Amino acid sequence: MKVEFLGSYVKDLPQDNIKEVVFVGRSNVGKSSLINMLVGKPIAKVGKEPGRTRAINVFLLEDYIKLVDVPGYGFAKVSKEERESWKELMERYFTERKNNIKCVFVLIDSKVGPTELDRLMIEWLRHKGINHLAVLTKSDKADQRELSKSLKELKRIGVQKVIITSAKEGRGKKELLKVIMEAKAE
Ligand code: GDP
Repeated sequence: MKVEFLGSYVKDLPQDNIKEVVFVGRSNVGKSSLINMLVGKPIAKVGKEPGRTRAINVFLLEDYIKLVDVPGYGFAKVSKEERESWKELMERYFTERKNNIKCVFVLIDSKVGPTELDRLMIEWLRHKGINHLAVLTKSDKADQRELSKSLKELKRIGVQKVIITSAKEGRGKKELLKVIMEAKAE
C-alpha cells in the first residue's frame, strides 16, 4: 500500500480538503501496531512511552485519503496541563476538520472492554455528529468470554458497528481497509 508521511501537528492543523479517517484510543491500546498492520509498514512507533507523543500524525494513503493518528488518552502519569492541552488539541482538530472526517475508529482493548474515558469519547463523537465505530484490539489476548463481554458492553452504550482486530494475527485488516476505502469513495 502506498503511504506517505504528511506531517506532525501540535498547533496549526492542515487546511486541505482531503478526506480522512482517524484513530483514537487510550495509550497502549495498540493503535500504532494496528496502523502499521493496516498499511503493511512500520510508520507509527510501537511501544513508545505512553502519553509522550502529543502530536497528531498524518499519513496519506494511496494519494487520496488521509490516515490521522491522534495522541492516546488516559495515561495516569500525564500532568493536568498536558491533559488540558490534549483536550484543546482534540477540540480544535475535530471542530476544524469535521467536514473532512469520514470515520473515527475508537480503539478499545478486547480484554478490557470500554473504559470510562472510551465511553466519554464515544458520547462526545455522537454529540458532535461525527461518524465513528469501535475497533476491538489485541483480540489474540482475549478469550471468548472476555470478547463477548466487551461486545455486549459496546452494544449497551449504543455503538452500532464493531470490528474485531489483532495486529499480531492480522485479524480485521480486510474489514478496516474496506471502511477506509468506502470513505474514500464517497
Ligand atoms: P499504542 O500506545 O496505542 O500506540 O500501542 P502500541 O501499538 O505501541 O502497543 C502497545 C503494546 O501492545 C505493545 O507492547 C505491543 O506490542 C502490544 N500489542 C499491540 N497490538 C497487539 C496485538 O494485536 N496483540 C498482542 N498480543 N499485543 C499487541
